[in-house]
Amino acid sequence: MAKEKNFIEEIIEADLASGREKEVVTRFPPEPNGYLHLGHAKAIALNFGLAQEYNGKCNLRFDDTNPLKEDDEYVRAIKEDIKWLGYDWAEECYGSDYFEYMYEKAMVLVEKGLAYVDDLTAEEMREYRGTLTSPGKESPHRNRTIEENIDLFKRMRAGEFKDGEKILRAKIDMASGNLNMRDPAVFRVVHAAHHRTGDNWCIYPMYDFAHPLEDVREGITHSLCTLEFEDHRPLYDWFVQNTDAECTPHQYEFARLNLTNTVMSKRYLKQLVDDGVVSGWDDPRMPTLSGIRRRGYTPASIRDFCERIGVAKANSVVDVRLLEHCVREDLNAHAKRIMAVLDPVKLTIENYPDGKTETLQAQDLPDSDKTHDMPFSKHLYIERGDFMEVKPNNKYFRLYVGGEVRLKNAYIIKCERVVKDSAGNIEEIICTYDEESKSGGAGAGRKVKGTLHWVEQNAAVTATARILDYLFVEGEEEGKYVPNENSLTLMENVKAEPEILKAQKGQQFQFMRQGYFNVDPVDSQEGKPVFNKIVGLKDSYRPPQQ
Ligand code: ATP
Ligand code: MG
Repeated sequence: MAKEKNFIEEIIEADLASGREKEVVTRFPPEPNGYLHLGHAKAIALNFGLAQEYNGKCNLRFDDTNPLKEDDEYVRAIKEDIKWLGYDWAEECYGSDYFEYMYEKAMVLVEKGLAYVDDLTAEEMREYRGTLTSPGKESPHRNRTIEENIDLFKRMRAGEFKDGEKILRAKIDMASGNLNMRDPAVFRVVHAAHHRTGDNWCIYPMYDFAHPLEDVREGITHSLCTLEFEDHRPLYDWFVQNTDAECTPHQYEFARLNLTNTVMSKRYLKQLVDDGVVSGWDDPRMPTLSGIRRRGYTPASIRDFCERIGVAKANSVVDVRLLEHCVREDLNAHAKRIMAVLDPVKLTIENYPDGKTETLQAQDLPDSDKTHDMPFSKHLYIERGDFMEVKPNNKYFRLYVGGEVRLKNAYIIKCERVVKDSAGNIEEIICTYDEESKSGGAGAGRKVKGTLHWVEQNAAVTATARILDYLFVEGEEEGKYVPNENSLTLMENVKAEPEILKAQKGQQFQFMRQGYFNVDPVDSQEGKPVFNKIVGLKDSYRPPQQ
């Protein structure tokens, strides 16, 4: 069945059919003032996806018109994230490359009597602006002559004024019901070095002016932004109309992505980094693309997620478990199966020959013929949580004194007794094994209820695992999130089968019965991996039917 079109696809198809547009040109316009997050992934998938779908093109545009917050580090990171997601841009553009063009277009407004230089302070401008229920008041400088405005605007550019001393404003309507139309600012004085243009400029365009002109400059046909800009659209159109623009792009708004248990605003995420709440923008708990990449999320799972959430015109909050569902599905199909014991306890098979080591075969994936070697001997580790001295009830199928389980890919063992330390903690579990019951052998047919994962002691690789939880949890007030004190738990004595040493940095695995983990690409060292838990094996959550 063909997938239902979203409202933007419908608009595009109508535009192409009517001949209003001949092609589709979109752009993804991040401000390089932080790292991209999952919300941006939605905008990326949308803009690049539409360009692909309609054989058009999508530009990457750095919206770098505010010199105070922008940095090349962010430019580099943003490019890396977009490529990682699997997209490539037609052109790499910078708003700052168009400063001269924007200055000229602002001058067009001045020359038409549609913009003026104002002396009001920011504070006064706010007062004069009025409110939603009361009209604004005109600035005493609103009726300067065109000649005077041309002169003042040139002098703004020449650096004659201090920050905030003068500002260029569009002359629209101080009584408009839309506050954005009450003589909005066009260019302001900021004496600051810009990450690309250095000290060439001391006046910078405002977002509302810069954005439509950047779109014009690049021949964007469909300029997609989030819903909070809906009220800015009349101003977008006003700037396009009144600057003698070379083409007429149109703005459309879609709902931003919100996720449960997640805060997605660059400003807030930067705060977490600056306050040291997380180890950096790429902390594996962060909802940034660099964070989830480091954690082991796959690009395919993010694209799948974006596809499933779709594009709507109303804001909503998406359950973060849908994202987890997407990565679980992808990893279930592709992640190599490995045994790792997170909280080990020693297990000794007393009737197994001393000094003997066998090499058993473990399947890489459930339905695959590919296997890898796994050593087995008298001395093993199992999970402490897989053992109880006394069977608690009839639904308990793990190991207890007197009980039997199968060791995955190996033998059936029976627990004979335990050895405890002076404090009464279990130090060692003593078992016997049934030599005939070897997996794959003639006696493998004998069935027991429980199967446990295990690791051979001598060959075991000692590692650290990070068990990661949400950075935010529901607080006492409904719908309000508070920081989660327990978002990171370290397991520092993990024992993994030696096969793990072949792993690439970043590679994902299923640790059988435990969940999906990856090898942290930053903190892992030769022979000493650090694992991040990506997601658990199961969740009662069911994704919405499509
Ligand atoms: P933030 O509020 O996190 O700083 P932003 O909107 O200021 O985000 P930009 O760099 O300006 O960040 O955004 C680039 C593009 O990504 C914009 O077109 C914006 O609409 C889109 N975008 C940002 N956040 C989201 C989100 N949560 N959902 C969908 N699109 C988003
Ligand atoms: Mg922004």
